Amino acid sequence: LNSYDYLVVGSGLFGSVFAHEAALRGKRVKVIEKREHIAGNIYTKEFDGIQVHQYGAHIFHTSDREIWDYVNQFAKFNRYTNSPVANYKGQMYNLPFNMNTFNELWGTRTPEEAFKKIEEQKRAVHLVGQPRNLEEQAISLVGTDIYQKLIKGYTEKQWGKKATELPAFIIRRLPVRFTYDNNYFNDTYQGIPIGGYTQIVEKMLDSDLIDIETNVDFFAHKDRYLGEYPKVVFTGMIDQYFDYKYGELEYRSLRFENEELNVSNYQGNAVINYTDAETPYTRIIEHKHFEFGKGDSGKTIITREYPANWKRGDEPYYPVNDVQNNKLYKQYAKLAARESNVIFGGRLGQYRYFDMHQVIHSALVRVHDEFD
Ligand code: FAD
Repeated sequence: LNSYDYLVVGSGLFGSVFAHEAALRGKRVKVIEKREHIAGNIYTKEFDGIQVHQYGAHIFHTSDREIWDYVNQFAKFNRYTNSPVANYKGQMYNLPFNMNTFNELWGTRTPEEAFKKIEEQKRAVHLVGQPRNLEEQAISLVGTDIYQKLIKGYTEKQWGKKATELPAFIIRRLPVRFTYDNNYFNDTYQGIPIGGYTQIVEKMLDSDLIDIETNVDFFAHKDRYLGEYPKVVFTGMIDQYFDYKYGELEYRSLRFENEELNVSNYQGNAVINYTDAETPYTRIIEHKHFEFGKGDSGKTIITREYPANWKRGDEPYYPVNDVQNNKLYKQYAKLAARESNVIFGGRLGQYRYFDMHQVIHSALVRVHDEFD
């Protein structure tokens, strides 16, 4: 055994919260990270004075006061409010679906007019019984126009499958808002850390009791690590940990294409979704709009986000939590429960789509189980 109490595999939010809390309790922690930088998918990097979200747009939101206070220890947040806009074949629509969207679609002006229009559209399609797929589910919730223009193409690109081949459960609810409110999230607290996300993880890991090594893959020396460290916190892929013994879990991957443009303001909003089927990317992020006062520099950085199938070796961005994969995950979770010296955590270790506030919460629960 070496002098460390914990090996944390992965420097994303789960691993970093755990390492931070362990160090606060006097434990010595080694963090290893296979990428060349810390912070996992919340990593941001500055170019031309603009914080670029390297792994997709990240907006912090929560209604949990404790989590909000927790994360505010590590950064100040601005008042950014997520209000994406959809581009469908050149027509612009406000999101999420609200009175502005309905006005853009149909010219309706009052909640009553909009409500009638949606009900009329839902009735016009004679669906019998339970929705059998995502298409039927979406139409039963919001009618045909919203489905055709704002949901179908986007969802099919995201999943790489036809909406009629996707399960209905992917869309359980489609919030429809009869107010002129473009705020995407309903949460009490929302914002972007001023100066980017990476500083949050840097500060979490800033301790004499924590050592960090990047460019190190756990699987290159798995047996040695398990022999040398009394306890391991593993935030990589749970199926890979068990050498895909029961088969592969399914993931969705993404490809990001960054471009620097010599204009001050390219699209007028941080996030524009491309909801038609023809445009190969799902959205364009213009990073400077996440921060205010970055206006007139004459330069901007945009990122096109392309969904992609996942195969071994690719970055697994999203777990695909359908019935089959969840069943397979449960088999792995049983094996994991028997690894008494390993804590499996985070999006890949627990094979669950966690938002940032959820992963922080989940890590703090594990910390509590471990130490308190
Ligand atoms: P990760 O951040 O993935 O960290 C895991 C780390 O482990 C990675 O750095 C990885 O390189 C490392 N690792 C894996 N395997 C190994 C290995 N074998 N050896 C060494 N290191 C390893 N959340 C929000 O709240 N709001 C948003 O707007 C939002 N937008 C998102 C957009 C996209 C495109 C994506 C993909 C996610 C988004 N999220 C958002 C979710 C957010 O990214 C996650 O909640 C958070 O990053 C999860 O942290 P984690 O520690 O579980 O995983």
